[in-house]
Amino acid sequence: MTNDKRRVAIIGGGISGLTAAYYLQEQAKSAQLPTEIVLIEASHRFGGKIQTIVEDGYQIEKGPDSFTDHKGTVATLAKKLKVEKQLVRSKEERKFVAVNEELHAVPKGVQFGIPTEMTPFLTSDLVSWSGKARATFDFLRPQGKMTEDQSLGQWVRQRLGGEVLENLTEPLLSGIYNGDIDELSLQAVLPFLSTHSKTSSGLIQSMKSYTRSSDYLTDAEQSFSFVGGLETFVDALVHELTEVKLKKSVRVTNIQKSNHQLLLSLNNQSSIKADAVIIATSHTIAQSLFHEKQLLQELDGIPLNTVATVSLAFDETQIAHHFTGTDFVVSRNNDLSITAATFMNRKWQGTAPDGKVLIKAYIGRVGDEAIVELSDKGIEKVVLQDLHRLVGITGAPEKVIVTRYKNAMPQYTIGHLERVRKSKESLYEAYPTIRLIGNTYDGISIPKCVRQAIESAEQIMQELKDLPSFVIE
Ligand SMILES: Cc1cc2nc3c(=O)[nH]c(=O)nc-3n(C[C@H](O)[C@H](O)[C@H](O)COP(=O)(O)OP(=O)(O)OC[C@H]3O[C@@H](n4cnc5c(N)ncnc54)[C@H](O)[C@@H]3O)c2cc1C
Repeated sequence: MTNDKRRVAIIGGGISGLTAAYYLQEQAKSAQLPTEIVLIEASHRFGGKIQTIVEDGYQIEKGPDSFTDHKGTVATLAKKLKVEKQLVRSKEERKFVAVNEELHAVPKGVQFGIPTEMTPFLTSDLVSWSGKARATFDFLRPQGKMTEDQSLGQWVRQRLGGEVLENLTEPLLSGIYNGDIDELSLQAVLPFLSTHSKTSSGLIQSMKSYTRSSDYLTDAEQSFSFVGGLETFVDALVHELTEVKLKKSVRVTNIQKSNHQLLLSLNNQSSIKADAVIIATSHTIAQSLFHEKQLLQELDGIPLNTVATVSLAFDETQIAHHFTGTDFVVSRNNDLSITAATFMNRKWQGTAPDGKVLIKAYIGRVGDEAIVELSDKGIEKVVLQDLHRLVGITGAPEKVIVTRYKNAMPQYTIGHLERVRKSKESLYEAYPTIRLIGNTYDGISIPKCVRQAIESAEQIMQELKDLPSFVIE
């Protein structure tokens, strides 16, 4: 007996896996291709790193709290899910950098840690006059070819000098990419630069050219979230997966070929046969699923960093200094453990009761991951000391939530794009109906995960259309 029905298994129910399931469901319907979609999630809940907690009048994001919606990727999906009205922009954003234990405003026009507007940069107190003078050499020196990947830190140091790198670029980019800036890949972190460097002289002009191009939207600078937090987005996705079989608390342990299909072994001793698989887990889990270890060996070169978020609630009267910002990042030249902090209630409506302050701090710099191993009380103490020194907070917090993310932040080190290309190439050659998605590969933000999920769904649908009918067992 034969059947034309295809089965696609998605491994991982974070934002990548859920989005892939949604687009597969949509495309199978429009192509009228009978398709069974199964999503398998190891934990008891969907959302992966996205987790919003609402309690005692606070709305706390344990993991990610917002996103810059490059090219409106999330907005388009939000519209399909009928939650576009819940998509909200931050109330205000004023970013600061802590240098030598003092907070300095990030000058207007800074993009990805690179100044693009000279007047605000030259009048800022973040960089000394000699540092500013050094940065202007960028206009005079030829840029050279950017064909090969290189260290992002060294490139910026060469173009703009060490002070701009240490006080501006490093704290702002390491906050997002969570790596040692000297190890980070220029091509993976700022992929657009090589195109814009062809027509511009210097790094500042190249970045400016990018911000004026159609690839860049002004919205890209502004943060978005959802009313009720990022879990609103997750819940909306799950709600719309009406044609998808959702399995929770089951882990995929192995994938192997079985006749013309793929056999997925699960940790509950059962198995699932599928025609195609989208793996939406971390790359280390993806590697562990195959007996053929050489297939994804290249991914060994992608280090994972460990961080923790610490949400603390205070009464407004506990904040002594007149810090007016919404966010600050901490340059590595400070004797501080926190790497960044956001005054959540200043940025997002409804995240704290009136008269209260909700701060979300980050710890876990590359080389200082051991701090994440401290007890919750130990972490709270360190974070409170730092907040006291930087923004004058006194007394104990009314609420503290510590969340550890172990080996959760992939670092895009030099050679990243090539590493990912080779891994996908070898896997897809051996398994043409498997795709890898998630923040290890082509972008670490939520919109970039959504984009990868959409592309993988399109590719898998194409592969399915070309498959022969299979025998029902
Ligand atoms: C602390 C922190 C803050 C961040 N802040 C931001 C931010 O503000 N903005 C932003 O855009 N991005 C941010 N990010 C990045 C963003 O959270 C991630 O890129 C995104 O959530 C990754 O989604 P994902 O679905 O690819 O992976 P995950 O969310 O990790 O989901 C993977 C899922 O796979 C499941 N799984 C694992 N193994 C198996 C298995 N064997 N079988 C079945 N299921 C399995 C896991 O349980 C998990 O649910 C942050 C990340 C962290 C850690």
